[in-house]
Amino acid sequence: MLKKIEQLRQASTGLEPSAAERGDMLRQTAVYAETFLNELAELNAFVPEDGHSNRLVQPFSEDPGRFSELLKLLADAVDHEGINAASGGQMGYIPGGGMYPSALGDFLADVFNRYAGVAFASPGAVRMEQQLVRWMADIVGYPDSSGGDLTSGGSIANLTAIVTAREIMEVRARDVENSCVYITADTHHCVVKSLRAAGLAECNIRRVPMDKKFRMNAPALEQLILDDKAAGLRPWLVTASAGTTDTGAVDPLEQIAELAEQHDIWMHVDAAYGGFFLLCDEGRQVLRGLDRAHSVVLDPHKGLFLPYGSGAVLVRDVTWLARAQSFEADYMQDARTSGGEYSPAELSLELTRPFRGLRFWLPLKLFGLAPFRTALAEKIWLARYFYAQLDKTPGWEMGPFPDLSVVTFRYLPRHGDADILNQRLVEAVRMDGKVFISSTQINGKFVLRLAVLHFRTHLEQVNYVLALLKHKALELG
Ligand SMILES: *Cc1c(COP(=O)(O)O)cnc(C)c1O
Repeated sequence: MLKKIEQLRQASTGLEPSAAERGDMLRQTAVYAETFLNELAELNAFVPEDGHSNRLVQPFSEDPGRFSELLKLLADAVDHEGINAASGGQMGYIPGGGMYPSALGDFLADVFNRYAGVAFASPGAVRMEQQLVRWMADIVGYPDSSGGDLTSGGSIANLTAIVTAREIMEVRARDVENSCVYITADTHHCVVKSLRAAGLAECNIRRVPMDKKFRMNAPALEQLILDDKAAGLRPWLVTASAGTTDTGAVDPLEQIAELAEQHDIWMHVDAAYGGFFLLCDEGRQVLRGLDRAHSVVLDPHKGLFLPYGSGAVLVRDVTWLARAQSFEADYMQDARTSGGEYSPAELSLELTRPFRGLRFWLPLKLFGLAPFRTALAEKIWLARYFYAQLDKTPGWEMGPFPDLSVVTFRYLPRHGDADILNQRLVEAVRMDGKVFISSTQINGKFVLRLAVLHFRTHLEQVNYVLALLKHKALELG
């Protein structure tokens, strides 16, 4: 038996590269990353699919590959087509970020592979995550009793909040058909997915009408609540948006909070896109009332420029989250929290999870908060500038003046179908590739949208997209 074990060990030594091999891989990785970053300003924000990813469709071999060859395959099959999410020209879907220190944080977190689920396993990793949650709760204006959890993104954070609301509001399976939930047509689809995943799809899901600026209409919400109560139903959850994906609109949070308090309804705010604008004065004014929500979702991989994989859920009372996620498991007996502080695993749907704190903590500590505040204010002013420039150009129909940093607009040709023209316009921008914008449907019309949020988006990119749109509109119209 010992001989067998020794043989198996010898045959698997390939899993542990030598110091020299590690150094070599690290150098090649650094060269690959540096080449990309040094060329980034010249690279397109979008490259149409050209079939190179098919090279990945090949069986895994029993034999080792060469690191340099694998990097070449990565460059060719992954890192060259599609949306370049690291580019400041990405102004289409709500942009992500990709701050460099976060990449180093992920690297170190993965090398050490600290388990950040329970304080017993890594007091430091857990303390770091708790500090980040505390910081976000403070920005929101939550009291000391609040808490939260770092998630993989906004969708899972919304799901966590909705499950928590369901548990604390005691909506049982038998109550679902008599229970009412209030959202708008512009509520992010992940909220609807979350309701379904939480067994709440058969609630009466009311789409509250919106005002001209695509914000939830508070008087209409009140009327719906009153009607539902009169019909013997139970209003229990309202999900407001602090920055919708479509238009960037912020629902009237103060008014919604009043109604939620008055009628004993859980107020959840999806601030995945807009929440971090609290860091600048321009945003803070728009987001007044966010602190009155029972739960809030933020997406550091959007508004704080982290790479994909960082969302957050916050609740005004941390015990709500703990109650919703409470569990019993004998094999966890050594890892139980003592002293009243919760470990992430006690507040999360996850048990084993990556150490998400380091990618988040490192840029905040290294850069300080000041440049985050100014960069976010810059995004708001860039969106206002874009709006003003296009608004004064004949032929363009503008959506509402932006609450935050999303602008909707379309070109009205003198003859012909505006929907078709705008469809061709967004395609023309994509074919150019230097910048990327997206489209949506608003009141049944095909509308273009610009979302400014990337930390690398500055006046150059906005001027470029303005010039390109004007030029292409004339050409096509
Ligand atoms: C992006 C977004 C989500 C979903 O978050 P993910 O991080 O993509 O899972 C939810 N709501 C809003 C308003 C968003 O912008």
